[in-house]
Amino acid sequence: MKRGILNHSKEELEKILAEYGIEKFRAKQLLVWIYRFGKACFSEMTNIGKELQKQLGEVFYIYRPKIIQTVKSTDGTIKFLLGLSDGCTIECVFIPEEKRNTICVSSQIGCSVGCKFCNTGYHGFIRNLSTEEIISQLLVIKDYLNLWNTEDRLSNVVFMGMGEPLFNHENILKAVYNLILDEKDGISRRKITVSTSGISPILKEIAKDLPCRLAISLHAPNDILRNRIMPINKIYNIASILDACLVYSSYHEYLKITFEYLLLGGINDSKECAHELLILLKGINAKVNLLQFNSWDGCDFVPSTKRNVIQFAKILKDGGIEAPIRNRRGEDIMAACGQLASRNSEIEGS
Ligand code: SF4
Repeated sequence: MKRGILNHSKEELEKILAEYGIEKFRAKQLLVWIYRFGKACFSEMTNIGKELQKQLGEVFYIYRPKIIQTVKSTDGTIKFLLGLSDGCTIECVFIPEEKRNTICVSSQIGCSVGCKFCNTGYHGFIRNLSTEEIISQLLVIKDYLNLWNTEDRLSNVVFMGMGEPLFNHENILKAVYNLILDEKDGISRRKITVSTSGISPILKEIAKDLPCRLAISLHAPNDILRNRIMPINKIYNIASILDACLVYSSYHEYLKITFEYLLLGGINDSKECAHELLILLKGINAKVNLLQFNSWDGCDFVPSTKRNVIQFAKILKDGGIEAPIRNRRGEDIMAACGQLASRNSEIEGS
């Protein structure tokens, strides 16, 4: 049976190649062809001889999921519905901006965390994605938009789509390392962000090896409020998350941690909450991303008013914390934060 080459790190590939008597240095060559130049066929890898190309084709396949549907927002955001080999579907999103492009990648089919404001969590959990299913989201989007070998290069990757990345951290880490490659051939570690709802023991465990930026979905300045909108907080509370953040910062001092804060009207958007958040983040190398709520059927939350959003941002800014207000992107096509939920039959049945 052929092996999925995208499922393997450079070190794993070196070992597999050795089993077939192929030199170690070929692993790096293969990864550069696949992740830098987007080749999905060994015969296009021109510094590899014909015989070896044939042998590689007998050992490996280079995975691409099927694009089932694309939907384009009026703001240029494109949502992709991808079909996987077992019939399940996932969503990922391409977000063009003036100075950069971002791809938002899913890590699981569904999600078990169950944040009250999130459509993915509302539909339940099916399974983790394999490394090839994670990383191929990016490859297939770059294929579709013809982003290989052009100036219009993808600049940011965020692991913020469907699922809790830290519940699938082995596959996520492998995907991140393959995207970075070495800084020369891959994407800069500063342009990759792994987001988590705050699974503190896992974050602590992988802090040293997480080679990229970290984002925490915080959304509340105290446990009482966070328990209400993110029930997982009853297991991993704010103190434990901040403790894990300090461990991460001890290894990556130069990388600011982003705290995502979704402003929900009348819930967590008061002046008091903003002041409490300032105190909470004191001493942490932090930035706060203020997100505006995107509604979806079945959810009772409402967006914060413009006045409250501006007031909240000003309090943080005056307190010395960078707090940009993120524009809503792709809301009209259900591609915005918290709106992703591909319609797997298993999910709908749960
Ligand atoms: Fe899961 Fe993230 Fe949605 Fe929470 S916000 S339910 S962690 S996908």
